[in-house]
Order: sequence, then C-alpha cells, then structure tokens
Amino acid sequence: MNLLTKGCASFALLSLLLACDSNPDWEQNANDNGHTAPTLATANANKAFLDKRPFANKADFENARRGLIAQQENMIVPHMKEGTVWDMKAYEFIDKNGENAPDSVNPSLWRQAALNNIHGLFKVTEGIYQLRGFDLANMSIIESDNGWIIVDPLTSRETASNAFLFAQKHLGKKPVKAILFTHSHIDHFGGVQGVLQHLSDEEKQNMRIIAPEGFEEEATSENIIAGTAMVRRAGYMYGKALARDERGHVGTGLGKGPAFGTFGIQSPTDLISKTGTKLTVDGVPMIFQAVSGSEAPAEFTFYLPKHKAFCGAELLSNNMHNLYTLRGAKVRDARIWSGFIEEARTKFADTEVYFASHHWPMWGKENIDEYLSVQRDTYKFIHDQSVRMLNQGYTPNEIADSIQLPDALNQAFHNQGYYGTIKHNAKAVYQFYQGWFTGNPAKLDPLPEAQAAVRYMAMMGGVDSVLTQAQAQFDAAANESIDDSIKTYRWLAELLNHAVFAEPENNQTKALLAKVYDQLGYLAESAPWRDFYLTGAYELRHGAPDEGISPAMMKEVLLETPVEFFFDSMSVRLIAEKAEGVNTKVKITFSDLNESHLLTVNNSVFHHKKVPNNTAADATLVLTQPLFVDIIIGEAGLKDTLFSDDLSIEGSKLDLISFFGMLDQPEGKFNIVTP
Ligand SMILES: [Zn+2]
Repeated sequence: MNLLTKGCASFALLSLLLACDSNPDWEQNANDNGHTAPTLATANANKAFLDKRPFANKADFENARRGLIAQQENMIVPHMKEGTVWDMKAYEFIDKNGENAPDSVNPSLWRQAALNNIHGLFKVTEGIYQLRGFDLANMSIIESDNGWIIVDPLTSRETASNAFLFAQKHLGKKPVKAILFTHSHIDHFGGVQGVLQHLSDEEKQNMRIIAPEGFEEEATSENIIAGTAMVRRAGYMYGKALARDERGHVGTGLGKGPAFGTFGIQSPTDLISKTGTKLTVDGVPMIFQAVSGSEAPAEFTFYLPKHKAFCGAELLSNNMHNLYTLRGAKVRDARIWSGFIEEARTKFADTEVYFASHHWPMWGKENIDEYLSVQRDTYKFIHDQSVRMLNQGYTPNEIADSIQLPDALNQAFHNQGYYGTIKHNAKAVYQFYQGWFTGNPAKLDPLPEAQAAVRYMAMMGGVDSVLTQAQAQFDAAANESIDDSIKTYRWLAELLNHAVFAEPENNQTKALLAKVYDQLGYLAESAPWRDFYLTGAYELRHGAPDEGISPAMMKEVLLETPVEFFFDSMSVRLIAEKAEGVNTKVKITFSDLNESHLLTVNNSVFHHKKVPNNTAADATLVLTQPLFVDIIIGEAGLKDTLFSDDLSIEGSKLDLISFFGMLDQPEGKFNIVTP
C-alpha cells in the first residue's frame, strides 16, 4: 500500500488542516477505504444470528468438496487487454469452514462465502463433471459417446478458456460435441468463445448449440434498453468498488463475483420450446423442461435418464433467488416459478444426483425431493402470503417488515436470503400485482427527494440539529435490544438520507450516514444487501465513479444482436428538448446485410422501421453492421467516420450530424446516494 492510495485516514493530522476534497474525513478506526468498525450493537446482533440457522449441519461443506479432482492454485485470470477478470486468492481471508466470522460480517453470509470459495474440478457422478469457482456460475461437462457436452460456458472468454483448459489438463482432451446454454443470462453463455477458441474448425462445424426458445432475443435485448442504469446499479449489487476484505465484499451469495471480462455469444442450432422434448446428443439421452418466465425469460432444465441426474439450471440454487433483482429488472413471477419446481420434482422423480448452474450438487433421492419441496414452497409461501397481506391493505413496507418463513421452511440453509431476500421478494410480489402505487394519495405526487429533504430539514430545525440528534441515537443503539438497534440504524438511514439530500456538501452528515450504511452492510445476511450498503458508504466517502463501464466489453455480443434492438435503444436516448419542432427522416442501409431502416423524428418521438432499400429520406447512411457497432460503442467516432471512406452518405452530412446530435450519451456514473 503506497502513500498515495492510503487515503486520508493515515494523515489524521494533515486532514485537520486540509479537507479531503468534498469527501468526509475518516474515523480513527476506519480501514483504508474509510469503512468504520462494527459497533457493539452490530457485533451483538451478528453473534445472536448464530442461533437463527442450523450451523451444526455440515452437509453443504461435504457436498461442496465431494468428488474433487484438482484445484487450480493461484487462480488469477487476467483480462485480454488489461487488468484482472477473476481472482480467487482475494477471498482467502475467509476461513475454510466459514466458522470464524468477524463482527463485520453476518455469520450466515460468511458461511455461504466460505462454501462459494470451494473451487476446483469435481466429479459429480460417473460421466458428469463440474468446474466450480472459476467464474460466478458453474461450467458442467457431460461425457458423451465421442467427446464432451459443455453446459453453460461461464461469463467471459478469459474465465471460460481458463476453466476449459484446466478440465482438459485433468480429464484429457476430448472433442466438444455440443454446448448447452441453460438460459439467457450472460454468466451462462458470455464465455462461449473462450471454449470455441480451443476447438478445430471441424469440431465447430459439427457442433450442436442447444438453447431455450427465445434465447438469442432475450440474451441480446435484456440489458439494451435500460442497460446503462442496470450496469450502474449492478456495480452496487456486486460491490464492484469494494475491497475483498472483512469490511468489504465477501461474495455475491450466488457465487464469488461477476467476471468483468470479454463477453461473447453464439447462435444456437437447436431450440427447446416444450417440456418433455427428448434429444439424444452424441449418445446421451436428455429430457428437457421449459421454464421460461421464471428465473430468466428463456430457460430450460434437463434430466439425464441414463445418469439419473437432474440439472436444475438456475430454476434452483442453494440460496433464495431474486423475484426482483436489485440492479433493476422486471419482476419475476413467483407462482409460475414455484409451479415449475413442482413439475420438475414429479417429472424427474427418479433423480439421484442433482446439479445446477450455481453452487454445489446434492446426492440421494430423498435429499433431493426434500430440497425441491422446500424450494418450491419457499417461493409459493412468499407469493401467497404477500398477496394475502396486500388484499388486507398492507403496504409493501408493512408486508416486508412482517413476513417470515414458517418454522418448517426455516430449517435449511439453501432457501435463505443470501442473494434474494424474503423482504425484497415480498415487495416484488406486491409490485407484480399492484405496481408502485400503494393507494395512499400522499404517495401520489410527492416532491422529488431533494426538494422534500430541504423542507424536512427546515421543519426539523436544520441539518445541524438533526445531525446532533442522529449522532445521539446512533450512540444509544449500543444499549438497545438487538431488534431495536437494527431498527435505529434503518431509521437513521432514512433520516440522514434526507439530511444528505438537503445539504450534499455537508461532510459530517455524509460521514454519519456512511457509518450507518457500514453497520447495515455488516448486519446483512444477503450479499447484495451488504454490497449495496457498503457501496453506498464507499460513495459517500469517495464520490461516484469517474467512469462508467465501457460498452466495448459487449462488442462480441452486440455484433450478434439484431439491428432493430439498437434502434429501440436509440429511441430511448432521444433528447426531447433538442427534438422539439424537428421533423426528419434518416435512412440507415447496412451494405453487408442488404437491409435498410428508416429512422424518423417527429413530435419529439423517434420511430424506426425496416424499409425497402430505395425508400426516400432526407439523408442516407450506408455502412456495415460492424462499423455501426463500433460507432455505438464509441470505438469509432461518428464525426470522424462520417468523413471517412468506410461509409457513404447520400444527402446532407450536416443533417446526419444534427440527427445523431439529438441522442443522449448516458455515461453510467450517475449519483445514487447523493442528489
Ligand atoms: Zn446465473
């Protein structure tokens, strides 16, 4: 750690003289990033949590270690360009059996983080292997008559390549006969090129790529319209800015972390649309279950009758999953989700080995049946009880505050809220049926946050007075009951958020709010909750990031994305004020695809449609799809390109420039914890 990166904390004396920009000074007990020590109240609450879960049951650790063939030492995977995509060593501060949680980590989350640290190549059963801990998700390998079937080739080219080569090293080189994408989320297909790059042309030509119906559309469109905000918020959800340490990120619950590497995609050769579809892939019989509309908009699970093995994809995982994912996404249907689990339980009742796209497997018919029943009932319980309460008139906050799993569903670890939580999932059920409005007219047209905050503070005697009282309450939390101290922190988060939004330059307020967020993060059993709180604290101390995530990392995926989707994403970037009074038609002709799209702006609205190539327009841009993608991701500047030979223009170049000048360029680094 050099002096420059150590920050203000080490310069206590200096910081008395010099304010550290507009960011708060750090406390004496703060670590290098400014995260404060756990309070006595937090330490006590975390210790008490040991009675809430069946910690004596070590079956998960046995299952997570069973069948280990080899472990990769020093697993640090570099990015193709610069930096690191994957670093398992960074998590070695977590003890192997997850028994020594520090006061700054909920012991149940610490245990889950220790389980997710167990990485390696494992034999699941005769003919089925898994690479776990090489990425957020698992890569599974099924031996077929003449080679391998790969299930879910991870998130990035870099991690997938590393995992695939590790498997070859220990299992021997076999031709790859098929790749399965179980669903349309990027941690299950984004690394496909990292496998394909090691295969011969002949292997690639004869390969089957099997995916659920709608896979390509969902995989390429899911993040395109609201993608900028989702990526920004994903930085919070996965603790992107946080150190990997006792006061930082310990894992995601679902696995370790996301792999921010080079993403790709490959078109499927076989699409699965119906439950019961049977395929024999290089001698391996498979029966598929279509579960689209549960965890992902396009997803399947499958059963291997010869192995009596069931792959639950991500319909099932060893944590409660998200009905609403905090990075921001459409809510999922808990009722359908639960129904699919029951369908799998009855349809594949002969299962003796269960494995999935995240976490460790499970063995034994009875264990698996019990597991599926508890998973099924967890989602159905949350659905039914949330709806029961909303029909009684309870609000989302009230439902979330009172809903609890019944004792019978609270005996296991695998349905606990390490990823989704019962609280935010209950709100998701409310949102699914009722939307954002509770029916209370006070909530119909409130002032925006900063305006309301100013008036709250004025009414309460000013920010300084609020700060004094808040500090007193924060200190008093140490003498409250565990439940009350947590409620005090929750209340102070709301109160101090008003204070920060009223006076965003007030460093004392930001420092106290950051301290409250630290405690709420340390208390959370859910990894995304922990990372949201701690990232909030981090940004109150350091400010929002200077740069958003570059869209260039998606280039390979964007090259496979139907061009219509880009135009959908352009229309949500139209700056209405700049388009006021504009009535213009621009045609884009893709010379390589031999297709044209007419983009019109009128009434401050952007429309697009595919048109015959000879359709008239005010200006026409002729270019290739790859060049178009380069412009979209910023690798080719529009103005430079417009005057180059790589494209041609009919009509006015200036019209084209002013057309594209009406489009917003969201940078993905907006403030969240400050106005
Ligand atoms: Zn996943």
